[in-house]
Amino acid sequence: MKVGRKQGPDTLGEDFYKGASVVDTLFTRIIHREIPANIIYEDDEVLAFHDIAPQAPVHFLVIPKKPIPTLKDLTEADKALAGHLLFTAQRLAMELGCEEGFRVVTNCNELGGQTVYHIHLHVLGKRQMNWPPG
Ligand code: AMP
Repeated sequence: MKVGRKQGPDTLGEDFYKGASVVDTLFTRIIHREIPANIIYEDDEVLAFHDIAPQAPVHFLVIPKKPIPTLKDLTEADKALAGHLLFTAQRLAMELGCEEGFRVVTNCNELGGQTVYHIHLHVLGKRQMNWPPG
């Protein structure tokens, strides 16, 4: 089954969607600039933007442009992309002044607290983090 989104300007190319089984999410619409976001970084594969409801002085999200719903849906073919997401999180955290420390979180499915079904890394910084998380 192909991804639901088929109309409008598509800068990602068909290959990004081959085999995908997800429909549009909020984040797909941010990728396509259909809704606004405070974008920090973009390349061919990933996009990073500030979270609309920040839980720390620094709180941004790193997402792949490929619409993978959850961490459970990662495949062997996504291993390089997963590394790129994590490396982007680290590099942007440094650029945003989190050299002393930061937290990276991925919520997976409802039990994991996920609300948007387009895989994303939360990067939180510039305050003391606690454990266990809520
Ligand atoms: P999760 O609950 O782990 O799926 O995370 C989804 C995150 O997306 C939450 O932290 C939301 O605050 C954030 N979010 C939802 N809508 C937007 C938006 N339009 N722009 C930026 N962040 C958003």
